[in-house]
Amino acid sequence: MVRHMVTSPAGRRLALAGLLAGLLALGSGCTTTDYVTGKPVRNLFSLDDEVQMGGQYYADMVGELGRKDAPVNQDAARVALVREITSNIVAHAHITQLPYQATFVGDPEFVNAYALPGGHIMVFEGIWNPKLGLVRTVDELAAVVAHEIAHVNCRHSTEAITRQMLPNLLLTGALVWATLEEDDDMQLLFGGLMLVHNGLIVTRYSRRDELEADRVGMMYMARAGYDPRAAPRIWQRIARASDRQTAMPLSIFSTHPRDDLRAQELGKHLPEALALYEAAPVKRNGTRPLVP
Ligand SMILES: [Zn+2]
Repeated sequence: MVRHMVTSPAGRRLALAGLLAGLLALGSGCTTTDYVTGKPVRNLFSLDDEVQMGGQYYADMVGELGRKDAPVNQDAARVALVREITSNIVAHAHITQLPYQATFVGDPEFVNAYALPGGHIMVFEGIWNPKLGLVRTVDELAAVVAHEIAHVNCRHSTEAITRQMLPNLLLTGALVWATLEEDDDMQLLFGGLMLVHNGLIVTRYSRRDELEADRVGMMYMARAGYDPRAAPRIWQRIARASDRQTAMPLSIFSTHPRDDLRAQELGKHLPEALALYEAAPVKRNGTRPLVP
């Protein structure tokens, strides 16, 4: 099909040149300033794009949860708690103009929380599950929510998409070229490179993003008046559970860095977070246990 569109060698070269010019334009026009670090960063998307993308994902997810009979925002007390924590924390976030919205999903087996680009925070009931439970106190729940809010502020989703797009487009271009040239070896090579890129490089970046979200989230929670010692405590608990080879059904955490490494990294930044907590004008009495 593709081969019939570009038949002559000159036509092929022209098509390839057009593709490369497009990729260069795409690559050079996307530098923006990171809201959290203040440093230049590549991101092809605006905050408005993120709000639109996140809204679409959210509508799809709620539709999917409806088909699985997982109730969305039905447990008034937990919805209120998750929303209270979210609004306390976003008051101290870097991007204040996003329409943040917290959602509680009644799925007791799913120990998880998500952030969607644009400000949707989704917390699942499994977080409360006493057997599978990740968190035991309000401070610990605040640490999870703050981590998700940090992902939104660091714009990790759209930065990751941007990072993947350019090399993927280049490799796709190379693959198209190899196909046009009917070069089987090159097709194999570029196809293989694409797999390696997506498997290794993208995962390594997302681990770095996880550590950044841990650190930034711990500062947010501390400024909002939640005791930041809760953050390393969660990861120590998970590391101990992993040592005992207890299967933790933390699906989203499978690409995360090692749990003990996270606790260690958080520990390094704890003195700074504790100073922010001491200076916070309001303390949230977050040591109270979550009602299972
Ligand atoms: Zn994360």
